[in-house]
Amino acid sequence: MKNTDPAFDGLTPWPPALIEHYRRNGIWGEANLTQWLETKLLCRQQDTVLSGPGFAATPWQVLSGGELLQQIKRLAFGLADIGLSRGDRVVLQMGNSNAFIVTLFALLELGVIPVMALPGHRRREIEHFVRLTNARAWLASEGEAGMDFQALGNQLRHAIPELEHIIIDTTDAGPHLTLASLLKDNISNEKLPGHFVDPAGIALLLCSGGTTGLPKLIPRTHRDYLYNAAASAGVCELGPSDCYLVALPAAHNFPLACPGLLGALNSGASIVMCPSPSPETAFEYIARAGVTVTALVPPLVRVWLEYASKMGPPPNSLRLLQVGGARLDMGTARRIRPELGCALQQVFGMAEGLLNYTRSSDPDLLIQGTQGHPLSPLDEIRIVNADGEDVPRGKQGELWTRGPYTLRGYYKADEVNRRSFTEDGYYRSGDLVRQLSSGHLVVEGRLREVIRRGAETVSVEALEALLAQLDAIRDVAVIGLPCEQLGEQVCAVLVLDEATPKPTLSEVRAFLTEEGIARFMLPDRLEFVDQLPLTAVGKIARQQLITHIQQSRQQTNTQGILIS
Ligand code: AMP
Repeated sequence: MKNTDPAFDGLTPWPPALIEHYRRNGIWGEANLTQWLETKLLCRQQDTVLSGPGFAATPWQVLSGGELLQQIKRLAFGLADIGLSRGDRVVLQMGNSNAFIVTLFALLELGVIPVMALPGHRRREIEHFVRLTNARAWLASEGEAGMDFQALGNQLRHAIPELEHIIIDTTDAGPHLTLASLLKDNISNEKLPGHFVDPAGIALLLCSGGTTGLPKLIPRTHRDYLYNAAASAGVCELGPSDCYLVALPAAHNFPLACPGLLGALNSGASIVMCPSPSPETAFEYIARAGVTVTALVPPLVRVWLEYASKMGPPPNSLRLLQVGGARLDMGTARRIRPELGCALQQVFGMAEGLLNYTRSSDPDLLIQGTQGHPLSPLDEIRIVNADGEDVPRGKQGELWTRGPYTLRGYYKADEVNRRSFTEDGYYRSGDLVRQLSSGHLVVEGRLREVIRRGAETVSVEALEALLAQLDAIRDVAVIGLPCEQLGEQVCAVLVLDEATPKPTLSEVRAFLTEEGIARFMLPDRLEFVDQLPLTAVGKIARQQLITHIQQSRQQTNTQGILIS
């Protein structure tokens, strides 16, 4: 019989035998996120649980467990008053603040499914999320550089009249609602619908890094995501004396649940929301709250190291720095302990599920030189060649995985699902890895073309398709060039019709902005060639092109590029 509960709409379930297996092994619990949250906050009524900027970016605000729960309920009742109810989807696009946490849990209290958009997303992505999920509201916070959220709200309203509510966390939202105006004063003790949702249903939708086109949505169920966070907190040895700094955008799986803010809540640790990952801000927040653990992507680690070499290391409360999202080079890894004064943990994971961690008991060589091994004893991995056959241990192949917190299908994406999953439910990650005899994985590349720019993944294919629409373009290739600050920067290489005037970088960026693409996808550099080098099978010879561009141009200084 078809399940008509909207929390199962778009969810590809695990097979019944595995569901039984994960439950019997105690991997999956019986609580949903709302029940879990209330239990966690009620036993910390008086303790500090959360610090950071409040609603509408008001300065530092410290909340106890009791105060946080009160705010969550006040907002949940306010959101219910405007008509949001169980099973609805809402696109949530907020920066790092206490309001992010209040809003996320207020939506969950109502049984509403948040779509976790990133601050860097723009009209194209937001429209896609709203349409795909039939979202009833877009909930955003102001403060993202170069972004007019009111104007985006107007565009969305015009483009999608069915989008009922546009809510912005700011003091003046123009024609739209401000988030704080929805905090209801008089609330009852009535249990909201989120208490009664099935833990097997979708709790939230995460965005995929996206190797092709628009980001896909990843359904995460209550019980798989709670396991994800709790087990991660275990390998990070988080406890009540810890304080976790959310430095990366909180809607990313890494700071959200690996162990992130959910893992911190699960362990009785406190959370600090940091509005920017820059060392200037983060070091101040670390000092202010006695932060012990945080997570960064490799380019930011290099920015922190640079800053520390001039201004001194971060406050010595910091005991653990998790690094993941892109490959960390050994040279940078070695500098972390002596120069930042804390231990390193490498994390290789994906919003789709599988997480790998180095453990504190691993020898330094493995912590610095590998990306860890799977979180769960029930994670299954295969490393395969192009024919889908397992490669011998130590040899490179594509990583396939399935397990208790790895999705079985993207949200409403049948076509993509046919390509991305094997018949027996393995997710084809597209990552090229090697497994050492210790079981640790070393990530060596990607099967499909993406650029890792800071914390974000730029789809080469999607950007090339948009650039091909420019006037007088004969051919286009998008390549990633090595960059100290960002890891890789985005370079668009154009082949123009003869006698066509060359567009400037700002013209190209303006065109793409008009198309509404994410800010982090805008090219950092523009190059022109007479023709693109091709491989024997007629594909763009990207490596050859990268070498050619690097040789013909001296690397420009990337100082000042914002890591979004
Ligand atoms: P996302 O789902 O946006 O976090 O992106 C996941 C992808 O980021 C993975 O499939 C990898 O390609 C890449 N990735 C994540 N962590 C690492 C790491 N530690 N080393 C190398 N690549 C990584």
